[in-house]
Amino acid sequence: KKFPGDFSNNPIQRSTPKVLFATIKPVGFDKPQLIAFNEALSEEIGLGKFEDKDLHFLVGSQLPDNIQTYATAYAGHQFGNWAGQLGDGRAILAGEITNTTGKKTEIQWKGAGATPYSRRADGRAVLRSSVREYLMSEAMHHLGVPTTRALSLAFTGEDVIRDIMYNGNPQYEKGAVVIRTAESFLRFGHFELMFAQGEHKLLQNLLDFTIENYFPEIVSSDQEKYKDFFENVCTRTADLMVEWFRVGFVHGVMNTDNMSILGLTIDYGPYSMMDEYNLNFTPNTTDLPGKRYAFGKQGQIAHWNLWQLANALQPIIKDQKFLENTLSNFGIYFWEAHDKMLCKKFGFDGLKKEDEEFFAYWQGLMQELELDHTLFFNQLEKITPKTDLKEHFSGVAYTVLNKEKLGKLGEFIELYRSRLHSNSISTEESLELMKKTNPKFILRNYLLYECIEEISNGKTEMLIKLTQALENPYQEQFPEFSMKRPSNYNDIAGCSTL
Ligand code: AMP
Ligand code: MG
Ligand code: MG
Repeated sequence: KKFPGDFSNNPIQRSTPKVLFATIKPVGFDKPQLIAFNEALSEEIGLGKFEDKDLHFLVGSQLPDNIQTYATAYAGHQFGNWAGQLGDGRAILAGEITNTTGKKTEIQWKGAGATPYSRRADGRAVLRSSVREYLMSEAMHHLGVPTTRALSLAFTGEDVIRDIMYNGNPQYEKGAVVIRTAESFLRFGHFELMFAQGEHKLLQNLLDFTIENYFPEIVSSDQEKYKDFFENVCTRTADLMVEWFRVGFVHGVMNTDNMSILGLTIDYGPYSMMDEYNLNFTPNTTDLPGKRYAFGKQGQIAHWNLWQLANALQPIIKDQKFLENTLSNFGIYFWEAHDKMLCKKFGFDGLKKEDEEFFAYWQGLMQELELDHTLFFNQLEKITPKTDLKEHFSGVAYTVLNKEKLGKLGEFIELYRSRLHSNSISTEESLELMKKTNPKFILRNYLLYECIEEISNGKTEMLIKLTQALENPYQEQFPEFSMKRPSNYNDIAGCSTL
């Protein structure tokens, strides 16, 4: 088997000829330098082992003849407004590869040069954003959250001009390319673009293609098929939001162009894992004062984005009542799934009526005591009747636990104990549930920051260690990674998407 394999299949080209894509070659970089390669993923998708000669391929150079590379166009609603066509200015698809079990995977370079959709931008990516994409998408995968994945990370050997947010002066940064993979990179914005251009026939083609290839669970036909599709997208999207709440992930730019039609986490820009629990936390420094993309709003915004998708599908799904009903069911479905997820985090047997009140109390407590979302649950697992609460939770609080706060925590723990007593499952089963649901390791923003600093200085120890940690997030491998964010990193928000 010859790396880079067979890429003869270009899905978008088949479904929307000449409209949703443009053929374009990566610009090509002469002096690539490998930073990381995901051997396991490469094997899994059918690319096999990495060989030194493949390095050029990883940055989009020296392509074999059997590849016809292309970029796709999409539109989107950004920060609540229709922004028209806006992507993809810096992702180039190599095509689709099939592994031995018949599983298909799309492969694309991010940062391999400008495309016809780049407008005035350069189509490049820098080390900072590329490391963030590479590590976090893999971290999410190993946490069990649906996501696009990352195959490789390499320097291009070229310097790129960037306006660094921290000091406002244009600076040079090292250019890098990530290869990402996904079953499909189709976004809400692809459908929105077809709708906006009045291309109703192509919109239908794209829908047919998407359903046939990526929604095997849909067996209906005609109008029913499209309705089932929309319901499915709503469910997958709600499930994804619940997963983000489970692990404490804040996306930061939930524009419709960053919403995967398959319900995958896509576009790792200014995202951040949440340290102290805070529903208002957003890592996006450009977010509006209302904090549209804050942690606690993600369900709501997903819902809003689905409204925009529904709007784009109207020429095909003509039953307006159906769309409205499906959209209003979103909230019901989402909250039930969300509360069931919380039950698992707490080790409850199932959702009881009174749990809703308990969860609300818990949210208030977390926010008031500034408790670390991940470490709180890790500590909760270890609690015994003899536990000294102050000692047990001080290390996971970002504020001093004074007498009043300890009192509230004590009350909460009492409530928790009595709820556990009403469990129909055993203590062991309950604990097992908690351990499977609550990660021990999350890729905190400050860890990424340190890792990027190191790589910039030519060191990769931290990259290697973080990679090991994120591959087994439900085990504690490195005690130094299971601590709350050090106070010298209090100001680190997300990171610009450049
Ligand atoms: P994002 O805010 O990351 O979702 O980016 C929105 C769109 O902006 C992307 O889909 C790209 O088409 C475009 N874009 C972002 N950065 C660049 C860049 N450096 N060069 C060209 N296009 C870009
Ligand atoms: Mg984007
Ligand atoms: Mg982006």
